[in-house]
Amino acid sequence: MMSQKNFSCIGGLEKHIKIVKEMVLFPLMYGCVYSKFHLRPPKGLLFYGPPGTGKTLVASALAVECNNSDRKVSFISRKGSDCLSKYVGESEQQLQKVFTLAQQSKPCIIFFDEVDGLAPARTSRQDFVHASIVSTLLALMDGLDSNSEIIVIGATNRLDAIDPALRRPGRFDRELYFPLPCYTARKDILSVQVKNWKQKPAVKFIAYLASKTVGYCGSDLQALCAEAVMSCVRRHYPQIYTCKTKHQINERALKVEKQDFIKAQESIVPASHRLSVVPIKCLSPKMYPLLQDTLYTILTVLQEICPPEMMASENSDTEIRSSTMKCPRLLLHGDDDCHTRHLAPALLHNLEHLPCHVLDVTALFEETGRAAEETIIQKVKTARHTLPSLLYVPDILAWWDLVGEAARVVFTSLMKGLDRSVHMLFLSTIHCSADIIPVEILELFDVHQNEMIEISPPKPVERLAYFQQIFTKVHGKSDNISTRSSYVNFIQVLGPTRFKTEPKRLKEQEVEIIAAPVTRRRAEGKTRMKLSAVQTTSSGHTANTRNSLKRVHSTSGERISSKRHRPSGDSRLTSIESLTEAQVQDLLDRAVNYTDGWTCHQLETLYASLERVLGNSHGDPFISVADCLERFRQNQRSRNNDN
Ligand code: ADP
Repeated sequence: MMSQKNFSCIGGLEKHIKIVKEMVLFPLMYGCVYSKFHLRPPKGLLFYGPPGTGKTLVASALAVECNNSDRKVSFISRKGSDCLSKYVGESEQQLQKVFTLAQQSKPCIIFFDEVDGLAPARTSRQDFVHASIVSTLLALMDGLDSNSEIIVIGATNRLDAIDPALRRPGRFDRELYFPLPCYTARKDILSVQVKNWKQKPAVKFIAYLASKTVGYCGSDLQALCAEAVMSCVRRHYPQIYTCKTKHQINERALKVEKQDFIKAQESIVPASHRLSVVPIKCLSPKMYPLLQDTLYTILTVLQEICPPEMMASENSDTEIRSSTMKCPRLLLHGDDDCHTRHLAPALLHNLEHLPCHVLDVTALFEETGRAAEETIIQKVKTARHTLPSLLYVPDILAWWDLVGEAARVVFTSLMKGLDRSVHMLFLSTIHCSADIIPVEILELFDVHQNEMIEISPPKPVERLAYFQQIFTKVHGKSDNISTRSSYVNFIQVLGPTRFKTEPKRLKEQEVEIIAAPVTRRRAEGKTRMKLSAVQTTSSGHTANTRNSLKRVHSTSGERISSKRHRPSGDSRLTSIESLTEAQVQDLLDRAVNYTDGWTCHQLETLYASLERVLGNSHGDPFISVADCLERFRQNQRSRNNDN
C-alpha cells in the first residue's frame, strides 16, 4: 500500500518531476498530441541512483497524480522480489499477468521497484530461472507497441546489476539518475519534511541544517526530522518512558529546537557514509588563512576549464578559456599532502552538486578477488552514467605501484578516451613535484591548459595570518577581514551555491551573513567582525572568542579596549593574557621566519604544539612559546641536513 504523497511532498527533484511528467504522464493523458506530431513516447523509463533518493517516492507521487488527473491513468506497482516464485514458470506467469492487467486498464503505468532483483544481469554463473524471467520481461516489453498506452518504469540502486539487454532502445530506453541531494535540494527536502509541523524551524536554521548534512539522502533527512521530534518529546516528557499509564502530551507545547536536531544528527549515520566515504569537507576555519587563496585560484581555474553546465552557479557566464579536446581535468601536485587532506575535500564541497565517484586505494582493493582494472572500468562507467559528474582520484601514487601494468594501462587509456563531449571532471591529487610524476600520469594532463596546479608551501603572509589565530583570543591581532574579502567577493561573483564556505558551528545569524550581499556585509561592521572571528579561530574556541569580542567592541562597533574579557577556567587565555603586544609580535615574527618553505602538515603540527604550550599555564608563556618555536626550528634544520 502506497502512502498518498503527491509531487508537492517531494523536495529538490523539480527537474525529475518535469521529465517524468513529460515522458510518462503527458503521453498517456494527451496521446492525441503525440500521435499528431508522430512523437514516440518512451516505452520504459529507468530510475537509478543511491538508496533513499526518492525513486519510489516519485513513482508513488506519479500514481497519485494519475488518480487525480481527468483522464484516469492506472498505476500498477510491483517489487522485483514480489514477482519471483520458487515454482518453475510461475514468475513468468506473474509477469504475464501484470502486463495483461495493464492492457485491460490502459492507459497504464507499470512500476517495478528493485528491478535488479527481477532482472539481474545474465551471466554464465547465473541460474537458468533468472535468465528465463529476464527473457520473458524482455519479450513482454518488446510486445508493447508505441501506441500501447503502457509505460514501464523500473527503479534500481544498482544499475550495473540489471541485465544490459533491458537498457537497449525500445525497452528501458530512457534513464533518470537520482543523485544524493546537494545543498539546495537538502534545504528543499527539509522544508518539505517540516512543512506540516505546527512550529516550523526558521528558514535560516533549515539552511544551516542543510549545510551540515552533506552526504544525507532524502530518507536520511526524513529520519533526522523524525528523530529530532522524538528528541524533543524525550526532553519535554521523560516520564513517558517509565510511566505505565498513557501520559497526556500537549503537542502544541512541543517545539523542536536546534539541540534536538543536533542530538538527532549524532544518532544518524547517513546511508551514503555506510556505503562509501566521499571526503567532502569545507575548509576548516583554522586552515582558512593558509589555504583560502590557493582554493580561490583552483576554483578560478575550474571555472575556466569546465563547461558552464557543470557548474551550479546561476551566473556562470564566464568564458571557458580551455581549448583542450579532452574532458575537464585537473591535477593538484606538490610535496605536501594538503591538497588531498584539505583542498580537494573543499573543492568537492563546492562542487557538491556533481555526483562524485571516488577511485582510491580502498575502492580498488575493497572487494577481494576483483581485479583492480575491473574496478577502474566500473568506476569510470558509473561516472559516465551520471553526467555531469566528478571522478575524484586522490593520492594517485598511493596505488600506482600497487596495481599491475594492466590496471595502469586500463586507467590511462580510459582517461585519454574521455573527450570534451563527456562532462566529467577528472580531479586528481599526487604527492610529489612535477619532475617525478610518472610519465603515464603526466601525459593525461596538459600544463599549458592549466590542467596542473602546483601547490606550493604557504607564503609568509598566509603563515602570519595562520599563527595570528593562536594569539587572537587576547590581543585582537586578527585583522584578516581584508585578506578574506577576496574570497567572500569570489563567492558572490560565482554564486553562493557554488562556492560556499562553511565555518564550523555557525549560528543562524552567521549563516545569513554568508549568503548576504557583500555590500550589506560591509555595512554591518560589527557582525562582520563576528564572522571573521568565527572564521579565524578554531571551532573549539569560538564561544570564548565571541565573549572576548563583546568586550572589545561597543554596540556601535567601536574599539574600546585592547584588553580582553577573560572567560573563567580557560588556562590558555590566562597564559596568553600575560603576554604584551610586543611579545606577541615578536613570537609571530619568529613563527613566520622559522617556517619558511614548511608544508601545511608541518605548520599544523607546530600550531598544535603552540596551542598545547599556551594551554599549559605554568611558567612564562613567552619563554615557553619561544622554546617550542626554537625546538621545531632545530628539528627542521637537522631534518634538512639529513636530506
Ligand atoms: P529510493 O526508492 O530511492 O530508495 P524512497 O523513494 O523510498 O527512496 O525514499 C524513502 C523516503 O525518503 C521517502 O518515503 C521520503 O519520505 C524520503 N525522501 C526521499 N527523497 C525525498 C525527496 N526528494 N523529498 C522528500 N522526501 C524524500
